[in-house]
Amino acid sequence: MATGASQAETALVIGGGISGLLAARELARAGKRVTLVEREEPLGGAVGSHQLAGLVLDSGAESFATRTPVVTNLLGELGLEDQIVQPNPLGSWLYLPEGAFRSPSTGVLGIPGSFDDPALKQILGRRGYRRATLDKVLPRSAGSTAKTLGELVRVRMGQQVLNQLVTPVVSGVFSTHPDKLEIATIAPRLLDGLAQYGSLAAASAAQRAASPAGSQVAGIEGGMNRLSEALVDELLNLRVRLVSGFDTIAVDRDPSDGRWTAIQRQPHSGERAAVISADLLVVATDAQTAVRLLGPYLPASALPAVKPGPEVALVSLVLDAPALDANPRGTGLLVSEQATGVRAKALTHATAKWSWVADRAGEGRHVIRLSYGRAGQENSPLSDLALHDDQLVTLGLHDAGRLLGVPLSKSSLVAADVVRWRTALPSTGPGHSQGVAAFRSALEDLDGATAVGAWVAGTGLVAIVTDTAPHIQRFMQRNSNL
Ligand SMILES: Cc1cc2nc3c(=O)[nH]c(=O)nc-3n(C[C@H](O)[C@H](O)[C@H](O)COP(=O)(O)OP(=O)(O)OC[C@H]3O[C@@H](n4cnc5c(N)ncnc54)[C@H](O)[C@@H]3O)c2cc1C
Repeated sequence: MATGASQAETALVIGGGISGLLAARELARAGKRVTLVEREEPLGGAVGSHQLAGLVLDSGAESFATRTPVVTNLLGELGLEDQIVQPNPLGSWLYLPEGAFRSPSTGVLGIPGSFDDPALKQILGRRGYRRATLDKVLPRSAGSTAKTLGELVRVRMGQQVLNQLVTPVVSGVFSTHPDKLEIATIAPRLLDGLAQYGSLAAASAAQRAASPAGSQVAGIEGGMNRLSEALVDELLNLRVRLVSGFDTIAVDRDPSDGRWTAIQRQPHSGERAAVISADLLVVATDAQTAVRLLGPYLPASALPAVKPGPEVALVSLVLDAPALDANPRGTGLLVSEQATGVRAKALTHATAKWSWVADRAGEGRHVIRLSYGRAGQENSPLSDLALHDDQLVTLGLHDAGRLLGVPLSKSSLVAADVVRWRTALPSTGPGHSQGVAAFRSALEDLDGATAVGAWVAGTGLVAIVTDTAPHIQRFMQRNSNL
């Protein structure tokens, strides 16, 4: 074990997504000499940018949830508070086997917060609607032991609510199916609400009411990628050493002094290798990489059975299509798995949703983003992800026309790009939260190393911002006398 305060001065962060950037910031602000190493060239991970037709657009995350003020506060600290923008209040749509419908007002995760919205009858059909309202009279114990969101919704409100309302949201936002989404990870308060109010609708409404009024999300003028940019600027000011283009293949701990060493390889430059050592190590990668790197130093019983998370391909289209000026489907659509004739699972009409995108695109020009990769089709020959980029663009153009109800020909296409996210979304099935808790608890007994990231904190900026700084502060405190 290392001794003496001066030896706990260096820190190495592996992974330069938003979690790694936040961890490095916390360590540097506490006076550590920090190096951050990232495999890819641009830092920011899933909060990044790409350029098409002269527009800088978000390549991954494009908004943040406003249910808590944590992201707003962070943006304030970074000088971006006055750049926060609200999406246009056009509402979104659902694309169901029966056609396109305006989304009804719901509580959370597509779960109705009441049964009063007349659109529900249309969307669920008479029988589906009647089954959903059984939620009001079922005993509160019904669904109370559910492990997944799918099971809870099916028991309380029936299959039709699951298919038509909840699955499109979960599939569009988390790229998974509600049957694979552990309640303890995604919405632990729903079960408490069910116990309290005796109805899932009331629990969903209560959770929604706990959020501030108005839109549930906000963005940044210029895109969420500016958050990564601002964090990188701050890290440079804090003299953090940023190293990108290096893949960490293994970490090693010297038992004589407790220092951690990361063995790196630069895949794009003749396989150049490098070694970086530090007193403190923070692994801010996806689950599989984190368990591979830190697993050798932990008891086997503390290693979660991590599975690869869902992959998603985003197809962005810039179109000269004045027919879209009327924003025919509001800010976009979520697509039911049962819908036929389209393969996309979600579409965002970015120029309708964000005024700053429309202003920068100019008159008659539209930005559409479609997402592909249905849950359950990972590594399957059925998956659209097996298509080449140019095939996905053709499919995207077809799907956009269908979903928006406006024919779109290839001649309207100004530019297109496909971004594939392979590791940014964790798998969060039953047992996930327990596995994460056991892993983190075992890390507490390991000197000088810890893990952050969406797979431990939860998917999305709110979960990551809420978790990372306090976790790193506790980590530094625990290791202050190394
Ligand atoms: C398409 C998409 C859209 C999303 N939209 C939203 C949204 O609108 N709002 C929202 O709140 N959230 C959204 N999310 C979720 C949110 O973006 C993620 O939860 C968050 O960005 C994950 O951050 P992270 O740092 O944990 O992981 P990542 O961003 O995945 O960063 C991990 C980094 O570690 C690096 N790495 C991995 N292994 C190694 C290694 N061996 N050596 C070196 N580096 C390594 C990776 O290259 C990567 O850059 C979205 C996610 C995706 C994929």
